[in-house]
Amino acid sequence: MNIVACVKRVPDSSARIKVASDGKSVDPAGIEFILNPYDEYAVEEALRLKEKAGSGEVTVLALGGPESAETIRKALAMGADRGIHLKETAPGRDFIATAQAIAAALKDVKLDALLFGNKAIDDDGSQVAAMTATLLGLPYVGVVTKLEVADGKATAHRPIEGGAEIVEVPLPAAFSAQKGLNEPRFASLKGIMAAKKKPVEEKPAVAGEPRLELIKLEPPPPRAAGKIVGTGKEAVPALVKLLREEAKVV
Ligand SMILES: Cc1cc2nc3c(=O)[nH]c(=O)nc-3n(C[C@H](O)[C@H](O)[C@H](O)COP(=O)(O)OP(=O)(O)OC[C@H]3O[C@@H](n4cnc5c(N)ncnc54)[C@H](O)[C@@H]3O)c2cc1C
Repeated sequence: MNIVACVKRVPDSSARIKVASDGKSVDPAGIEFILNPYDEYAVEEALRLKEKAGSGEVTVLALGGPESAETIRKALAMGADRGIHLKETAPGRDFIATAQAIAAALKDVKLDALLFGNKAIDDDGSQVAAMTATLLGLPYVGVVTKLEVADGKATAHRPIEGGAEIVEVPLPAAFSAQKGLNEPRFASLKGIMAAKKKPVEEKPAVAGEPRLELIKLEPPPPRAAGKIVGTGKEAVPALVKLLREEAKVV
């Protein structure tokens, strides 16, 4: 099976995010960047599908500046075979332009499955997968927690309110990976060393005209200081009064 997994470089979820002086981007100073956790599920699933099929190739694709090369190497260290780096020099955040660039790079690539994360944990868009699949004319199943492939078809499970939806699609098809799909493997030292020699094709990102403009990023308001109303059961009436009259939650 030939599988492509799209991977994005994102700030670590435990990082203390500060808005940069332009008011529109994240200040990268002191922040560790990681492979988007949902994309780790996508890469892991791609590796499992290839291993189960017994042949094929896993390609990882990232669109971004020079620093996205590190993200591609992380996915190669997990076991992917090759990378595609769509180089972008001007910063941008437009979903459709991103999807157009990914679709343009993949339009002549022969693939059986195209995998994405369910969302990138920085912009939280959940848009790129469906848009790219549509541009490539591929069937798309989003938020997948189980994926089985046999006889040119895929059966995908996706959680819905109070249950699961089970969908069958002909391959090639696109999927977005949700938490629970698998347990991503750690990159071994051997994998990290091997990743340095794996091929990464670099090409310019061919993005369309952006249709969204990010006007401003705002951090959440600082939390108000906590209040100790007393200790033991004597404090309960005062606590209930404050919850009712001040916090208005009961
Ligand atoms: C002109 C331009 C310049 C850009 N420059 C950069 C840049 O320098 N660095 C950068 O990281 N991004 C860059 N991007 C991409 C952009 O920042 C967002 O990634 C994009 O708008 C998707 O939003 P999202 O992260 O909310 O995606 P979501 O829809 O939440 O992402 C869902 C899934 O789509 C895939 N995906 C999303 N973004 C990418 C990506 N960039 N590469 C590969 N797969 C992806 C991943 O599998 C992800 O889990 C640029 C986009 C444009 C149009």
